[in-house]
Amino acid sequence: EVRVRFAPSPTGALHIGGVRTALYNYLLARQQKGTMILRIEDTDQTRYVPGAEQYILDSLKWVGITIDEGVGVGGPHAPYRQSERQSIYKQYAQQLIDSGQGYYAFDTAEELEQMREKLKAGGVDTPQYNSITRTQMRNSLTLPAEEVKRLIDSGAPYVIRLKVPRKEEVRLNDLIRGWVSVHSSQIDDKVLMKSDGMPTYHLANVVDDYLMKISHVIRGEEWLPSAPLHVLLYRAFGWENDMPQFAHLPLLLKPDGNGKLSKRDADQLGFPIFPLTWKDPHTQEVAKGYREAGYLPEALLNFLAFLGWNPGTTQELFSVEELTQAFSIERIGKAGAKFDIHKAQWFNQQYLRAKSDEELAEFLLQSLQKENISCSKEKAVKIAAVMKERVTFPQDFWEQGKYFFHAPAEYDQGVVAKKWNEEAVKVLLAFKDEVSTLSTVDAATAKASLEKVTAALNIGTGKILQALRVSLTGAGGGPDLMMIMEIIGKQEIVQRIEGAVK
Ligand code: GLU
Repeated sequence: EVRVRFAPSPTGALHIGGVRTALYNYLLARQQKGTMILRIEDTDQTRYVPGAEQYILDSLKWVGITIDEGVGVGGPHAPYRQSERQSIYKQYAQQLIDSGQGYYAFDTAEELEQMREKLKAGGVDTPQYNSITRTQMRNSLTLPAEEVKRLIDSGAPYVIRLKVPRKEEVRLNDLIRGWVSVHSSQIDDKVLMKSDGMPTYHLANVVDDYLMKISHVIRGEEWLPSAPLHVLLYRAFGWENDMPQFAHLPLLLKPDGNGKLSKRDADQLGFPIFPLTWKDPHTQEVAKGYREAGYLPEALLNFLAFLGWNPGTTQELFSVEELTQAFSIERIGKAGAKFDIHKAQWFNQQYLRAKSDEELAEFLLQSLQKENISCSKEKAVKIAAVMKERVTFPQDFWEQGKYFFHAPAEYDQGVVAKKWNEEAVKVLLAFKDEVSTLSTVDAATAKASLEKVTAALNIGTGKILQALRVSLTGAGGGPDLMMIMEIIGKQEIVQRIEGAVK
């Protein structure tokens, strides 16, 4: 049975890369009729950020990633919040002590620092607490048993460390990276239980993956260096046969491919890094989310699916159902995925265009409501229809279509400089007079009037279209001008031309 988990730490807003990790887990679970679990890894109390857990839940809900088991849902392995599972980790840490594979260490911060400095002075680049150095330190492998007991009874602070074997090859077959092999001499005697009685990430993560019967660990590449240690932990517990399969996802890179994508890059280039708008509770800084920027959740998921995975065909548009069918871990690449926000915008355009004019009109009506502008459904549908091929975001119907509701406050000076001249003014005035005689204006009558006037004045229609457009909309480009005239109507045409020629 496929059982996967998304295991974020509530240390701030969920990064867009975290959403991708959640998505890949979700797709595999759905495809294999398995179970998607949400586990909150909150044992590092120093990094806990209030509101972050709720933010994670809200984000997953918005993009449509549903959870079968876990925080907010419950399930047979509850609780799913690690801070509520302290007694479980304690018990397993004790098991390692009892079997001789874990030990107590009493070293103070100063003692550890001294050890590191001594090693560095001796030419060691990355000092470790390991099978060699541990013999010089104050721990239950070096101190007499009575001293260890006395220290613990007296309440002296201690941690529990893993006794990493000295000479062993640690191998794991990552589903994406292939065989990864590390010699145990490269691995620290990692702290498993901290002096505050909380487990470290490593212990809690492995114990929970085992207890929750996780079949596949799909997570970001930044965790690959921890994987050999995790393998050692499975061994120490005697769980090697139940070890999940690992799949470490490629990094998300900056748009130019030069290094890992960070919030700073996103801020600088002006695109969101978080799914939803997030206000940092410490700094009060507000970071706009994909939702608030106008991305549709299905477009965002389609975009994220392609950051590291591809279907092996030229098809790019995939509904979540189609992704579920097509997804496979084998088709995830090793190379980092360049984060191209233009591609995200392209997906958004495609998903917007696929909607009906009626649905799109709703986006416009919502914007208008905020602006306190009334508009009939019929007019909104017409505007949506003429604009849909040009918009990227739902708010663009209003942002780029304000001229449908009021005369331009300013005119594109580039167009004015090139196209506005005596001749144009003459034609516009004649056109205005012609339009005034009509009972109503639609696209066809507007076109006929324009042709009639330009023919009479012996001027090519094409020569004055831009001047007409700028007088009506203020802009040099936009959707079909005849349709714009039909939508704004006779009176507005007349008034706007009068206003422009003044
Ligand atoms: N809590 C870790 C994180 O925040 C989970 C890593 C894993 O999936 O093992 O990314």
